[in-house]
Amino acid sequence: MEDLKPFDFFPFDRQPSLRAIGWLDHEPIANTRQIQNGFFEKLFELLVNPWQPFASAGYHDCSLCRFTGGPKEIRIQNRSVRIGNANLFVPADDCVFVAQSSVIHYIDAHEYCPPRAFQDAVFSCREMRSMEYFRALRRHVSIKALESPPANLTLNTTLEDEQADARETSAASVLKSKSTPRSP
Ligand SMILES: [Zn+2]
Repeated sequence: MEDLKPFDFFPFDRQPSLRAIGWLDHEPIANTRQIQNGFFEKLFELLVNPWQPFASAGYHDCSLCRFTGGPKEIRIQNRSVRIGNANLFVPADDCVFVAQSSVIHYIDAHEYCPPRAFQDAVFSCREMRSMEYFRALRRHVSIKALESPPANLTLNTTLEDEQADARETSAASVLKSKSTPRSP
C-alpha cells in the first residue's frame, strides 16, 4: 500500500481519515527523502508500547529480508520494540497515520524514509495513552469505532459520540493506574 493513501484494511476502512505509512511488502522503496535528526529515536519511543485498538495475533514477516523474515524485536539499551505485530496510530493536523511496527525495521535495515508529514507527526505526537494523545486522535477518528468489533459498528453516531468522552477518560485512567514508573 502506497504511503499517504487512505488506510482501507478492514475493519479500518470505515475511518476515512486514516492514512497508510510504511506498508511496503514487496513494493520498491523510493528513497528520495531525508530522515530528520532524532526521528528514529522518537519513533522507537512511541513503538515501545503503542496504543492500538486491538492486539495483533502473530507476527508479520518482513518480505524485504531475503532469508529470515526479519527480526521480531529491535533492542536499544534495555528497551525493545516488537517488529511486525503492532500498529502505530499517529495523529497529524488533517489525518491519522497508521504504520505497522515494521516501519522502524524498514528504516533501520532497508533504507526506507517515511514522508516528511509522518516524521513531523511523530515529533509532535504526545505520550501514548495520554489525554492529549486521545484528544488528537479523536479530532479525526472515532476511537470507539476503531475498538469495536465490526458487528457493533452500526451503533448510531449520537450515542457513539456521547460514549466516546466517557471512554477516553476511563481508558486513560485505567492505563495510568496500570503503568509502571519509567526509568529515566
Ligand atoms: Zn527486513
